[in-house]
Amino acid sequence: MKTRMIFVGPPGAGKGSQAKIISQTLNIPHISTGDMFRTHIKGSTPLGLEAKKYTDQGLLVPDDVTNQMVKDRLSQKDVEKGFIFDGYPRTPDQAIFLDNLLTVTNQKLDIVLNISSSDEVIVKRITGRRTCPVCGAIYHVDNYPPKVAGICDNDGATLVQRKDDQKETIIRRLSVYKEETFPLIKYYANKNLLMDVDGNQPLEMITKHVLEILEQK
Ligand code: AMP
Ligand code: ZN
Repeated sequence: MKTRMIFVGPPGAGKGSQAKIISQTLNIPHISTGDMFRTHIKGSTPLGLEAKKYTDQGLLVPDDVTNQMVKDRLSQKDVEKGFIFDGYPRTPDQAIFLDNLLTVTNQKLDIVLNISSSDEVIVKRITGRRTCPVCGAIYHVDNYPPKVAGICDNDGATLVQRKDDQKETIIRRLSVYKEETFPLIKYYANKNLLMDVDGNQPLEMITKHVLEILEQK
């Protein structure tokens, strides 16, 4: 079973949902740099205040800030089981940093899953997304609604729309993805690590496909 993986793909292609499901299914830590930044922002830490300047605008947080945060996370013991990166790396410089980090700790990436989707599907998915400010659960007004509209199933909190999930910000994030993150696809393809997954399918179908890929030798 492959246990060291990265999910890449445009915002809203479903990589966050998949990473969560796979993390629970295989009991491997889910490392989402977006979630880490949101936690810092919520706690108003110095890192959070710095990150917020960028996240609010749909721009990438500078590489040195992001890389240092990931380095700290990878020094924790739970990643010995493997890891699922979701939303990192997002630039070629981050990918090179991660490669070096893994090399010095004698680890090897098993696979990079490229979850792709059309811009149209993405905009619909993201603008319908609602998240729980308490437990982090993610819903969708059409595709994955909570039992009671606007309320988290887990804890009854009122769901919110992330500021960076609003339409203008998404358009910006998609163009940032194309310019800064898309080159990574080629980087990992050249290393023979890339597998494509069709993100336009229903959630369960994507999970099934991902698990099949992880089980392959
Ligand atoms: P996400 O939830 O992964 O879409 O991340 C939300 C926001 O956090 C992004 O729009 C960026 O501003 C920031 N962010 C997350 N991951 C990274 C990363 N690897 N590099 C730079 N910025 C990031
Ligand atoms: Zn909740």
